[in-house]
Amino acid sequence: MQKRRQCRKVAIGDDRVGRIAIGGDAPITVQSMCSVYTHDIDACVAEINKLSDAGADVVRIAVPEKKDTAALAEIINQTRIPLVADVHFHYKRALESVEAGIHKIRLNPGNISDRDQVNDVIDACKGAGIPIRIGVNEGSIIERRDKQKRMEELGAYFEGHRSGHLLAIMIAKLEEYLDIFHARDFHDIIISAKSMDATLVIDAYTEIARRFEYPLHLGVTHAGTRETGSIRSIAALGTLIANGIGDTLRISYASDPVYEVEDGVELLCALDKRERTGIELIACPTCGRIQVDLFTLVEEVKKTLDREITVPMKVAVMGCVVNGPGEAEGADVAVFAGNHRGIIYVQGERVANVKEEDILESLLAECKRFEDKINRGEAQLGQKNVEIVPPAPIGELGSGAEKIASGDVEQITIGES
Ligand code: SF4
Repeated sequence: MQKRRQCRKVAIGDDRVGRIAIGGDAPITVQSMCSVYTHDIDACVAEINKLSDAGADVVRIAVPEKKDTAALAEIINQTRIPLVADVHFHYKRALESVEAGIHKIRLNPGNISDRDQVNDVIDACKGAGIPIRIGVNEGSIIERRDKQKRMEELGAYFEGHRSGHLLAIMIAKLEEYLDIFHARDFHDIIISAKSMDATLVIDAYTEIARRFEYPLHLGVTHAGTRETGSIRSIAALGTLIANGIGDTLRISYASDPVYEVEDGVELLCALDKRERTGIELIACPTCGRIQVDLFTLVEEVKKTLDREITVPMKVAVMGCVVNGPGEAEGADVAVFAGNHRGIIYVQGERVANVKEEDILESLLAECKRFEDKINRGEAQLGQKNVEIVPPAPIGELGSGAEKIASGDVEQITIGES
């Protein structure tokens, strides 16, 4: 993991909903976007609350029409999370959103490029003390009428790059747009440069991170369904975050936005950028040694424990006692299934041996008992009292003992640099 890139810090929110910092040393935040019509106030409020409950820090809503900005004041009044107005084509929607008390504006240089209009939005945001995200999207950035000419003019900057022309246009457009903001001494800016191509996203953000001092909102746009979208998004966003780039993110799916939030939170937890608020599930991938219906069991365990347990304990669900104990090393609570039974351990201590059909209920009961002990201060996460001893390996080969004893082991240099 690389050290986090240094950049400006921008605040979003107010006294009522609280303020969230984006950039600097602030934790990386998770965003999502409502999928319902903004002018349907009840549906919009319900979805914002659902996304907030799932772990979103910021929620964006589209304001294509005046009836949408007209609904904002009431939506803001009924919710408790910073909201962003997503503005395309009509700069007046931005002005109306600011007037309604929105916490941030997102502008797209690809479809609002009139200098006077942009100046009006900047002045309104400056007056209200709210930031603007400049979102340069691949899909809307190309000026189609003179596309060929622009490609030829700008392509030379990134000659040899697979998407060099596109990257050149994104950067050049961003620079032109930023000049307008700088001329008005406006710096409460967050930048995004999304594409549906994960490699272009990595290269664009890496280049932008090198050139500009503003916080970056990461995302792969039009990533598809959760199945393909998660791979594209995690490949790009995971790479960037591991390289120290990115201050807030949105994973986008053609699906329920709650999945976007769940997967964004999981990505940050996996990269140790956010503390868990519930269980961390370890599950074996299964193999020919399996003797229970582990796929169903794992699904049920996840669903049940996500609902019932709030302490961030590690829970392992393993298919057998052959390799399971070794692979579940570090779990606070673990079940090893075999011969249609489950053996449950809590911090290394064997506490139950139950029939397959009783595994879920018993595991939940043990997790709850352990959670109570944690809450009473009688146990600590990640501590094992009794070792779970897996079957002894046959022979020493592969233990690494000989190599370490010989002193012929290269120093490990992986880590923050
Ligand atoms: S824990 Fe057992 S069943 Fe699961 S993958 Fe490992 S060896 Fe196979």
